[in-house]
Amino acid sequence: MTDVCIIGAGIQGCSTALALAKAGADVVVIEREYPGKQSSGLNAGGVRRMGRDAPEVPLAVASHERWLNIEQIVDDDCGFVVCANISVAETEDELAAARQHVSDLHTRGYDHEQVISVDDVLELEPRIAPDFIGAIYCPGDGFASPFRTTHAYFKKARSLGVTFHLGEEVGSVHPKQGGWFIKTEQRDVQAKKLVNCAGAWGNHIAEQVGAPAPVRKEAPMMMITARTETFMTSVLGFEGRRLSLKQRTNGSVLIGGGYRGLVNSAGLRSNIDIDGLRQNAKVVLRLYPFLEGLPIIRAWSGVEGMMPDGIPIISRCCENENVYHAFGFSSHGFQLGPIVGEIMSELVTDGTTRHPIEAFDIRRFL
Ligand SMILES: Cc1cc2nc3c(=O)[nH]c(=O)nc-3n(C[C@H](O)[C@H](O)[C@H](O)COP(=O)(O)OP(=O)(O)OC[C@H]3O[C@@H](n4cnc5c(N)ncnc54)[C@H](O)[C@@H]3O)c2cc1C
Repeated sequence: MTDVCIIGAGIQGCSTALALAKAGADVVVIEREYPGKQSSGLNAGGVRRMGRDAPEVPLAVASHERWLNIEQIVDDDCGFVVCANISVAETEDELAAARQHVSDLHTRGYDHEQVISVDDVLELEPRIAPDFIGAIYCPGDGFASPFRTTHAYFKKARSLGVTFHLGEEVGSVHPKQGGWFIKTEQRDVQAKKLVNCAGAWGNHIAEQVGAPAPVRKEAPMMMITARTETFMTSVLGFEGRRLSLKQRTNGSVLIGGGYRGLVNSAGLRSNIDIDGLRQNAKVVLRLYPFLEGLPIIRAWSGVEGMMPDGIPIISRCCENENVYHAFGFSSHGFQLGPIVGEIMSELVTDGTTRHPIEAFDIRRFL
């Protein structure tokens, strides 16, 4: 019997596997496809503390410290580029809400975000259209390469002895002899403890262990443009619209927006929605009208697990002492990957964690 079986080799499963291996556990990971095939390899790569829901802030700040040392952790720099995040406010209401948000953060002891003026933004990003009235600014965030990062965690975990069964789907899980019996078409795995990192499919496992959770699938979309001269260095967004905009080091512009693609009927793949992409692109032109006509060379989408309250499940299971969940990251789980692995490892090995995770308990949905 192995110590721990993890279901899913996205960023959360691979990071958890690495942390558990470092803690000396015997770990098996089962993945239906391959590491990073789903959201963890397809996302926008945003490494963002800015604009987090209050319960996520301590985790995002702790994870950021890991990102700053990512090469020491996984032997790969993961393409991590440190840069500012700027989110512009277009109305007085948005600016007032931004001030309140930043003031609340400062009261709680977090000073990574500030409200800045239009002139301050123009000093940082001189080519932006000044059609806004202020912004939230978070220096020192950044972006990374998602597939490379997930693979770096995978490879590092494997090098420390973790066994990965790839291309195998977990059908059922049953309690047996004080542990868990995990069934794929190819094999049965027996483990003392079970960790559910199955992303948008987390509920398939959660409901089998008596803790159904209302995760629904959405398909966030991305576009990338042809290379162009460097015109921005921060990651940009809006307070009142959904956009993430960044220029990669090779000059291409990566665009993520609020309009979603379509999840297919089997729930395993998604398709882009051209009208939605057009709407996402229009938002970009509000900041940089001169980008009109820049060719989009590729677009894609990924299946992401969304929770009703927009924050993930990171918790021990309520019904079963030896089951743990980390899924439903609601379109912002990539940045949290490094800390989630450590948290899950602490929960599995010590039964508790140093990090504040009460808000992420699966019991909030029971
Ligand atoms: C287009 C897009 C843009 C995004 N942008 C950002 C961003 O900029 N910053 C950010 O922080 N986050 C972003 N996200 C969100 C982020 O990618 C996810 O929150 C994160 O990757 C979730 O990781 P995960 O390991 O929980 O899930 P996944 O990456 O989905 O991994 C779950 C794995 O479990 C496997 N699995 C499921 N069920 C089974 C089973 N029964 N048996 C075996 N294997 C199974 C799946 O095959 C999958 O590989 C974005 C997401 C998308 C789609």
